[in-house]
Amino acid sequence: MTGIVYKSTGSWYTVKNDLGVVYECRIKGKFRIKGIKSTNPIAVGDVVDFDIETLDNVTTGVIHTIHDRVNYIVRKSVNLSKQTHIIASNIDQVFLLITINNPPTLTSFIDRFLVTTQAYGIKTILLFNKVDAYDDETLLEVKYLASVYRKIGYECIGVSAATGKNVDKVKALMKDKVSMFAGHSGVGKSTLVNVIEPDLDLKTKEISTQHMQGQHTTTFAEMFDLNFGAKIIDTPGIKGFGVVDMDKEEVGDYFPEFFALKQDCKFNNCLHVEEPKCAVKEALEKNEVAFSRYRSYLQILEGDDEHYRTEEWMK
Ligand code: GDP
Ligand code: ZN
Repeated sequence: MTGIVYKSTGSWYTVKNDLGVVYECRIKGKFRIKGIKSTNPIAVGDVVDFDIETLDNVTTGVIHTIHDRVNYIVRKSVNLSKQTHIIASNIDQVFLLITINNPPTLTSFIDRFLVTTQAYGIKTILLFNKVDAYDDETLLEVKYLASVYRKIGYECIGVSAATGKNVDKVKALMKDKVSMFAGHSGVGKSTLVNVIEPDLDLKTKEISTQHMQGQHTTTFAEMFDLNFGAKIIDTPGIKGFGVVDMDKEEVGDYFPEFFALKQDCKFNNCLHVEEPKCAVKEALEKNEVAFSRYRSYLQILEGDDEHYRTEEWMK
């Protein structure tokens, strides 16, 4: 039988098959997935094959095979420095919520986020939220930013979780797909998800009650089926998906507009910094590459990415 992992709590996995039947499953034997050193062998979003066992009238599943992952996001384990924890896999798209103020979302943050999702191979859609609350000047800023990101291939939508503006567009994009929502705390993730599916009680706020005091506060990702045929992965308490180590030469490849120009640079290993006859810098001078994007690129290259890794990305 084949199914999708909806939840994982240590050694048990909640798996739903094509017919919507849910099984609590364990793993058989040792799972080693080539090239990935992670603390967990199976993550939410994984497609797995399992057998059914009935013992004392209790039916459980035994997972024996995991299908290749299309993509996955990880969190670096704080305690075990070299180990990573796979948060979720097979994600179709991430919606990055952006607000101009209350709270401000800086372009350096947006660009770092996009480098990460680009590196992971996850499609990202930018949602400019709270458009109901902006004055004309701020709306112009939204318009400008949206034009910058649209030009380089990212879909941008101005939305309002408060008035419901363009929420139908977001829902249409979510249909039949697995989505995640990201963005600074306070940008409106919980409010938006609530408008999209009012009956869904997401634990979008970090769990930090007295019950958890003194305990290891690992929380788990969970997938939910929405009633219009969409899936979302909620990641309570997870503060960002850390970037897998990236070489300097690689960073430019995750700026799509730089990548498109790279073949025109004189040197094929051009970092677009000091090199002569650099197509990216020429485009920058002609305003064909946005200055804010280039500035973000330099910041990432300069590697003040302590902040990059630990920044609060997911609520
Ligand atoms: P989260 O931390 O990203 O989950 O943000 P919340 O959903 O908790 O929202 C933070 C605050 O912003 C709350 O006070 C919301 O009522 C408010 N908010 C969310 N969306 C909108 C919106 O579209 N317009 C306005 N004016 N306020 C919003
Ligand atoms: Zn160059």
